[in-house]
Amino acid sequence: VYERYQQQDKSSEFSLVIVGAGPNGTYALERLAAELTAEPPDNPLAIHVFEKSGHFGAGWVHSPSQPKSSMLNRIVGQITFACDETNTKARHLLDKQYRPTFFEWCQNKYKLGGDEFFNMQAEDWPPRYIHGLALIDQFRTYCDLLNKIPGVSVHLYDSEVVGVELVAGRYQITSAKKSIPRIFGDHLLFVTGHSTNQPSAGSYVEKITQFAKQSDFYYAPFAYPLKHYVKPEYTDKDHVVGCVGLGLTAIDVFLYLTEGRGGKFLLNDDGRTYTYQASGNEPKKIVGISQSGLFTSARPFNAKEQDLEKYEHKGIYLTPSSVDQIRRNLGIPTVGRDAKAIKQIDFEKHLFPIVYLEMAVIHYKVLFGEDFAKQLSETLSVPFQTYLLGELDVYQSLADGVNYFVTHLNELVKKVFVIVEQFVSGTPVRKIQQLNEALNVNALLSCYFETLLGIEQADEISRILLSNLPTEISQWSASLVSPLGHEIDVKQHYFSWEKLITPIPCHAYKGSKDYPRMLLEYMEYDQLQASQGNLLNPSKAACDGVWRDLRQVFALAADFGGFTAQSHKVFITRYMRYHNRLANGACIEVMEKMTALIRAKILDVSVGPMPNIEESIEDGKIWLVGTETEHKVKVDSLIDARLHELNVRLDRMPLYKQLYNKGLIKAWVYPSAKDNEYIPGGIELTKDFHPIDQSGFINRKLTFLGPASEGVMFFQVGAARPYQNHHVLNDIIDWSEEFLTQMAATNQCMILESV
Ligand SMILES: Cc1cc2nc3c(=O)[nH]c(=O)nc-3n(C[C@H](O)[C@H](O)[C@H](O)COP(=O)(O)OP(=O)(O)OC[C@H]3O[C@@H](n4cnc5c(N)ncnc54)[C@H](O)[C@@H]3O)c2cc1C
Repeated sequence: VYERYQQQDKSSEFSLVIVGAGPNGTYALERLAAELTAEPPDNPLAIHVFEKSGHFGAGWVHSPSQPKSSMLNRIVGQITFACDETNTKARHLLDKQYRPTFFEWCQNKYKLGGDEFFNMQAEDWPPRYIHGLALIDQFRTYCDLLNKIPGVSVHLYDSEVVGVELVAGRYQITSAKKSIPRIFGDHLLFVTGHSTNQPSAGSYVEKITQFAKQSDFYYAPFAYPLKHYVKPEYTDKDHVVGCVGLGLTAIDVFLYLTEGRGGKFLLNDDGRTYTYQASGNEPKKIVGISQSGLFTSARPFNAKEQDLEKYEHKGIYLTPSSVDQIRRNLGIPTVGRDAKAIKQIDFEKHLFPIVYLEMAVIHYKVLFGEDFAKQLSETLSVPFQTYLLGELDVYQSLADGVNYFVTHLNELVKKVFVIVEQFVSGTPVRKIQQLNEALNVNALLSCYFETLLGIEQADEISRILLSNLPTEISQWSASLVSPLGHEIDVKQHYFSWEKLITPIPCHAYKGSKDYPRMLLEYMEYDQLQASQGNLLNPSKAACDGVWRDLRQVFALAADFGGFTAQSHKVFITRYMRYHNRLANGACIEVMEKMTALIRAKILDVSVGPMPNIEESIEDGKIWLVGTETEHKVKVDSLIDARLHELNVRLDRMPLYKQLYNKGLIKAWVYPSAKDNEYIPGGIELTKDFHPIDQSGFINRKLTFLGPASEGVMFFQVGAARPYQNHHVLNDIIDWSEEFLTQMAATNQCMILESV
């Protein structure tokens, strides 16, 4: 194919090079297939796609050759591959047969082959390789459609692009495989996804890498591909394996080392929990550590999926308009890009109190119902507007701002708590209602007890609420046990951010051996909470409603240096971790498997929070030391199970080094009011994802999308969602429209030149 292509006359041809063929590369081809099928180009177009893993469409993340135990952390119904009717910016859509959603793709596959594995429902959590199979199918479909368009040809290269150089106005592509001829591109799309970095100077990664080089110690600085880094010879039954991280990557590692080694998770009689049956091929022990000592929380059942428009949370306080007002009234003047004056806000001092308020209001709405939420919002209206004016004395610390809102929230919340206490001690609803005319006591008590006991108990709850017998009421109340793990004492139901981020307080286990037991108890509680879903559980609804549904508001506040440099660092290093833990975890089933591994004593989490990693010089091993638990474990090998942020100056890929060294991209220097230079790692990009090169020129012939664009902008990581006018697809539409315009303009120039 390469040779045939080389022999063609390419003088009038426009050449597009796409580097990376994962999901974003697939979405890009879909857009071109849709637009060019409807309006074929005037001149030939060659589309060259490079994918170093060779898995065109899936890329390495969703590769079908990865272990079957690695799961997607999205439900089937939330994935698509193509623009749909909601993407109103798309000028043309493909015929419906070419753009199944992931759910439809699975069902089609099931109907064709009868393979039960594809018989997934919209709310199921799929393995990543199945998503990969679908991506490969769709990628192929789009290539076929493009190749049918007169003048359009798609060329695939299973090779890494290692260099890009501007030669006579075109970009010469160098790839790792010498058999591939030099390709020239008029426009380049980089959808290279996640990469890995060299260790930064002075980091523990650098230290352990050095130590591993000098001793026989096995240290993997990255976990993927699992088959490559989690090597059997260093992780077999004779090895104690350490794992840095307790997030999604670590979960992939744990499942690979257990289920992937022939172990089985047997479902218990409760139909929910598992018992792990070891195969004997697992490591001697796996020791998991993380800064917080906590696993990512279980993702709640997604009840919003039934009607996203209705159920996804729309911000009440945390809105684009509030961010604008806060910026106007409290922002600190700074010099931004192109010497433009901008105002930066402090995430913790200015914005976090609003985040807190939004979460608290969702929490209380779920706990006490819609009517109560309306009253709460009336009570908060004036204090909130006053806060936005920036004229209070509460912006000096996070605690001041939070306390300001807590005081106003508690005016009403405390009244309701008293009502619950009165009822629990035997006062009939009728009597309580007489003293609280402004509140619908029956409604808020039934919502409260249904939350604690489950809606299955609704009839019994309404019966007892009608009772006039104090003894019956108090006896019923005293006998309550929540099957969902809720505390019955209403005082335990104040919204608490602290409890969410530090569910196991340090004083409870300091210096003792209690930590694993407490962590296990917490995980079991968390899984029960998650089973109640993201609409009916107060804390899961608050986390999901704010940190997932309002992500775009966070992005609006943070993108392009929206926070002060200092608070941007805090946001990235601390709050993004909270985001991952509270709102981006694995599904309940996977988290149940983690608890089963801990119970089976295969997975050891006894080191706890704030661990240190120390070298054991005498035997060339590593100690994992719990600074809070004072517990330490020696490991024979260590896997770093965390993803790396894009860092153009440290990236291991020759491509980024070369783009940087040639001046085609530069590292984003964070706009900062003070002289301290802060370079977070990402590429300096415009809003439409073009790099600003080292001479300050905006290069519209190069575009970076997906994780490759993270840094200047947030939340670029993720798959496309169907029927959501989804931003991932909208970014692809913007790119394709600009690309097609550039191509048409070049064609026009060619015509003029030939005239
Ligand atoms: C382990 C992991 C699990 C994830 N799970 C989920 C999930 O469950 N749900 C979700 O929504 N998101 C998930 N993500 C986020 C992920 O970013 C997106 O799902 C999606 O993969 C992004 O698509 P992409 O095409 O931009 O990048 P990628 O999927 O990373 O694809 C980019 C491709 O570019 C190729 N490439 C890179 N450099 C070169 C080069 N120089 N030359 C040639 N080829 C190159 C790579 O081989 C890679 O296959 C996960 C990410 C990771 C790393």
